[in-house]
Amino acid sequence: MSPHLKGSCLCGNIQFEYTGKLGPITQCHCNQCRKSNGTAFAANSQIEKSQYKIVAGKDLIREYESTKGKFRAFCNYCGSPIYSRRDSLPDKLRIRLGLLDTKIEKRPSFHIFVDSKAEWHEICDEIPRYPELEPGR
Ligand SMILES: [Zn+2]
Ligand SMILES: [Zn+2]
Repeated sequence: MSPHLKGSCLCGNIQFEYTGKLGPITQCHCNQCRKSNGTAFAANSQIEKSQYKIVAGKDLIREYESTKGKFRAFCNYCGSPIYSRRDSLPDKLRIRLGLLDTKIEKRPSFHIFVDSKAEWHEICDEIPRYPELEPGR
């Protein structure tokens, strides 16, 4: 277990700490994650907002409402995606694991939105794949 995680954006101005448990790591292949990260998929994990703290650079965070009620937060200076949040889930955030500076033991649990996957990307692991959201969400 990682009791205390630290992370930062590309320019380093935004720094955060998290003391809670990471939710399952999902590799999301949806169009929005691909575009907002510029990659084949995003690696995201749901966390408890109450245990997440921006310790530097809070004033650089901008939010883009990518779907009604869903906001994607990013660094206004370097463009790193920081987290997403939903009005319907006020106690949760979904962080982008590429921003972590602390090493973690946890490994990805599944792929989601595989139906929207980039045609040039091949999934080469054995974890479950779901066409859209994972069951139960
Ligand atoms: Zn930055
Ligand atoms: Zn996505």
